[in-house]
Amino acid sequence: SALVELDRLGKVYSTRTGDVTALSEVTLRIEDGEFVAVVGPSGCGKTTLLKILANLEQHTSGVGILGNNELGANRSDDVGMVFQKATLLPWLDILSNVLLPVTLKRRASAADKENAMDLLRMVGLGEFATKRPHELSGGMQQRAAICRALVHEPSLLLMDEPFGALDAMTRDVLNVEVNRIWRDTHKTAVLITHSIPEAVFLAQRVIVMSPRPGRIVDEITVPFGPER
Ligand code: ADP
Ligand code: ADP
Repeated sequence: SALVELDRLGKVYSTRTGDVTALSEVTLRIEDGEFVAVVGPSGCGKTTLLKILANLEQHTSGVGILGNNELGANRSDDVGMVFQKATLLPWLDILSNVLLPVTLKRRASAADKENAMDLLRMVGLGEFATKRPHELSGGMQQRAAICRALVHEPSLLLMDEPFGALDAMTRDVLNVEVNRIWRDTHKTAVLITHSIPEAVFLAQRVIVMSPRPGRIVDEITVPFGPER
């Protein structure tokens, strides 16, 4: 069944200097458990698309459904998001950073903490729970950011160039890690990337977008793509 269904979704930003059409007639269906990569040149609307799925921006035309809700009406905890920079809070330890989406809403329970520790152990950071972000490498910080995105068990994991700022070797290691997480958690995932090898390695399907206006121009099912 489909987790995401977008039907001729459009987005126009209204600015002081005029309207900018960021997305035009985007029709896309993402199956439950699928891993989709989105590629395309700068300005083609990739980030806008992710922000609309995350309810951080509202679309201005068309309709979209995420799970059982209309886009825009979905709860923010339906999605977990990973950005290019890990954006961990420097004064909190790693465990508290991972728990942040929970503690912004309520007091974290022992079960919440155990769940967060399980995630940290899954990415090899079990020993680093009480460290501060600056004590970890960039790759390790990004792993913690992935744990933070997963801690409230969202139905959809969104990643916007998550490894773009990392060196090639760290990037390769994290690609393997994300592939393993996806197989372990059955999480539906959407990844924005500039790297075609990364897209093909991680995704079952690659969506190709083009700018002015941002739209989907191609869709490629990855032959011999990843399996669970
Ligand atoms: P990508 O992630 O593919 O680089 P974006 O979604 O960031 O594309 O941007 C798509 C288009 O929308 C671009 O022309 C960009 O300049 C414009 N845009 C993005 N965010 C805003 C905004 N907040 N206000 C006005 N225009 C925006
Ligand atoms: P990653 O493994 O996340 O790609 P690195 O390549 O920088 O990050 O680090 C390789 C390994 O070295 C890590 O998995 C970790 O075991 C160890 N390491 C890196 N930085 C630190 C640190 N600040 N403190 C302790 N161990 C570290």
